[in-house]
Amino acid sequence: CGVFGVYAPGADVARLTYFGLYALQHRGQESAGIATFAGDTVHCHKDMGLVSQVFDEEILGRLVGDLAVGHNRYSTTGSSRIVNAQPVVVDTRLGPLALAHNGNLVNTYALREQVLACDAPTAVLASTTDSELIAWAIAQAVATGQSWAEGMITAAQQCQGAFSLVMGTPAGLFGLRDAHGIRPLVIGRLMTEGTPHYVLASETCALDIIGADYVRDVEPGELVHITPEGIGSVQWAESQRKLCIFEMIYFARPDSVMQRESLYSYRQRLGYQLGREAPADADVVIAVPDSGVPAAIGFSQATGVPYAEGLIKSRYVGRTFIQPTQSMRESGIRMKLNPLPDVLMGQRVVIVDDSIVRGTTSRKIVKALRDAGAVEVHMRISSPPVTHPCFYGIDTDTQDQLIAATKSVPEIAAQIGVDSLSYLSWQGMIAATYDTGDRFCSACFTGNYPISIPEPVKRQKLV
Ligand code: 5GP
Ligand code: SF4
Ligand code: MG
Repeated sequence: CGVFGVYAPGADVARLTYFGLYALQHRGQESAGIATFAGDTVHCHKDMGLVSQVFDEEILGRLVGDLAVGHNRYSTTGSSRIVNAQPVVVDTRLGPLALAHNGNLVNTYALREQVLACDAPTAVLASTTDSELIAWAIAQAVATGQSWAEGMITAAQQCQGAFSLVMGTPAGLFGLRDAHGIRPLVIGRLMTEGTPHYVLASETCALDIIGADYVRDVEPGELVHITPEGIGSVQWAESQRKLCIFEMIYFARPDSVMQRESLYSYRQRLGYQLGREAPADADVVIAVPDSGVPAAIGFSQATGVPYAEGLIKSRYVGRTFIQPTQSMRESGIRMKLNPLPDVLMGQRVVIVDDSIVRGTTSRKIVKALRDAGAVEVHMRISSPPVTHPCFYGIDTDTQDQLIAATKSVPEIAAQIGVDSLSYLSWQGMIAATYDTGDRFCSACFTGNYPISIPEPVKRQKLV
């Protein structure tokens, strides 16, 4: 999911949030929502669809206030339905709370029991999400006399898993990250007529779009409180930094900066490392656009094999509301990716992608390259095989759907129909960062989960 928040009295906070969510659209395409606060009054609009489909001038005009919270949803718990759209808005002793969550809890069942058993106030669960449970846990803590910050910390201590939260209240904007900092969250500064205002966002690309400067990350285990006076901070849990490395490899936008690294440059270094580890005798290097492009350029730089565009991606294939005909479906990826025969004809081709998850797109792409005249196809993947499911908010699926969970690299090569296949090593993936391996979660590549997964959750995903 994508989360965004801004506290800027006098500015059009709904419009700023709209643009922030627009830049974070890649983090979730199912639903979008914005809640604004004018003192104690909250205004909220959320619906299914893309940011550009959910909001128009009239709706943004109604979302008045000094503070706004926004969310783009990508479902990892709870189904894709309007009741599960965020921000979640609940009433508390201290006034309304609007909460936007990125990540996935692993103790959802236990937390649900606890929230339903508490009678102050009685939670009436409207959704099937873990995010609503966090909002109720805060409301219940606040009902016992705790302040906003105390209630948020109480609730955070009851949660296990990944949670980067942006929360609006009548007392200001709050941002919170779990102790492992699995999902990103950054602080930005927006100058309006000489006055600094603060912004929270999943990625720095959302700061760029509204002209805000990056200040710093919300640290793992930190709660920040933004008011007109500035930023307050509490370290509510000891930081055990384990940023999701898949954010860096694939999920986040390449023009975002994470751990002080440009993700574009990081992905290029992954490709460079891959070229060192697994070169190929070939005439041309191409990418699976868009996510494979920086790694393909890096691979070309490491091997000296020239880079070219061999697949053109339609800019207009997002969500397809109109189903293609059966024959179009069989021609597969052509709706989205079309090969260039003049680049590929008679060539020995290296095709670079960032990851293989289910292996379905790869197989279709390889066939399209051969149909366009490629004489050899060598696939290179700029991350290790995805062998384990993610429980922390990336939809890398149940284990049986992960091709590398059950098949060896030669078996995968045979299934997708390539002349050779190589993945980047885990060591190579870490060497390309400016950090050490213990600073990241890389469980989908290793099965080494930094936050233990209760058995019922594991079984549910592993069946
Ligand atoms: P697959 O192997 O499942 O056919 O697809 C691999 C492609 O999907 C890669 O190009 C990669 O960029 C992209 N990909 C990797 N992880 C995810 C994910 O969690 N969701 C979606 N929609 N695409 C992903
Ligand atoms: Fe990211 Fe993989 Fe860890 Fe999930 S398991 S948080 S996708 S590195
Ligand atoms: Mg891709």
